[in-house]
Amino acid sequence: MYIRQMFAQKPCVCSIEVFPPKKESSLAKMQDTLRRMAGLRPDFISVTCSAGGSGQAGVSTCRIARFIKNELGLEPLAHLTCMGADEAGLRQTLDELFASGIQNLLALRGDALPGLQAPPRLAHASDLMRFIRAGYGSFGLSGACYPEGHVESASLAADIDALRQKQEAGASHLVTQLFFDNLHYYRFVNRARKAGVGLPVSAGVMPIVSARQIERTVKLSSASLPPAFTKMISRWQNDEQGLFEAGIEYAVNQLRDLIEGGTDGVHLYAMNNAEVARRVFEGIADLLPTPKEGV
Ligand code: FAD
Repeated sequence: MYIRQMFAQKPCVCSIEVFPPKKESSLAKMQDTLRRMAGLRPDFISVTCSAGGSGQAGVSTCRIARFIKNELGLEPLAHLTCMGADEAGLRQTLDELFASGIQNLLALRGDALPGLQAPPRLAHASDLMRFIRAGYGSFGLSGACYPEGHVESASLAADIDALRQKQEAGASHLVTQLFFDNLHYYRFVNRARKAGVGLPVSAGVMPIVSARQIERTVKLSSASLPPAFTKMISRWQNDEQGLFEAGIEYAVNQLRDLIEGGTDGVHLYAMNNAEVARRVFEGIADLLPTPKEGV
């Protein structure tokens, strides 16, 4: 099923993001995690790809997406980046995804890391989308968006302009970067709508449940930190169990507000933790919508 069809059927589409394991020996554990996540009945599960190619380092994005589709009967959204890749390599990955029955791709430029270059004709995600449409027109395309602006953007307006280009290039859905302050999301969607970007937007939320995540994600992320969030972190950062509970509660509150505020979709960055996903889904279950009448 195409992800765009899900948005036509449900007032709020719920999804989870996972990343493929780096080692083959971790595949069985990953599959177990995915089975547990599938029990929560998310509308789709997105699978990241590693930076600097098309996700072929470690277990491939395609392999995990295939497992989600064929073994779990759920819709995968396979991420694909062009930074550090070349057109022949991208075609090879697209052939494999197509042959595996994958219907939905999150087309990304990828991070501009030292030593990595985008293929000459594919400088931006919208170029990659056009490239995919030209050779593989049956894929449904999603794109990334940034409620607080992409780090390289001169302004939020320039970023929203890039979103219009993604829309024109054939994207039918957007997923946001994580954020901790819903105000940024509401303002961003409002501005995007006024600028003519009408695509459904999945709001990306990451529960911060461990001290390691504070180091890795919070300090490296360019997301602004509202007072309630910094208060939560400083209160619980030295208490493992306390931080877990407080992090789940913060994310659940964020998601409940987003669903009640009418977001098109919620996208959970669960960091391959099925227990986190279970707790969060439990916390929003009463708000999860039923399909629109007649569908
Ligand atoms: P683009 O849309 O190309 O934007 C990059 C920059 O160029 C922005 O500043 C934008 O404003 C500007 N720009 C875009 N189009 C134009 C244009 N036509 N003219 C001028 N400027 C333009 N990375 C991974 O490596 N693997 C993943 O699996 C992955 N998954 C992600 C999932 C989500 C939901 C998000 C939000 C990000 C993800 N990323 C992933 C990170 C992403 O690759 C980086 O944020 C990257 O720096 C930008 O990718 P993009 O597709 O948004 O690029």
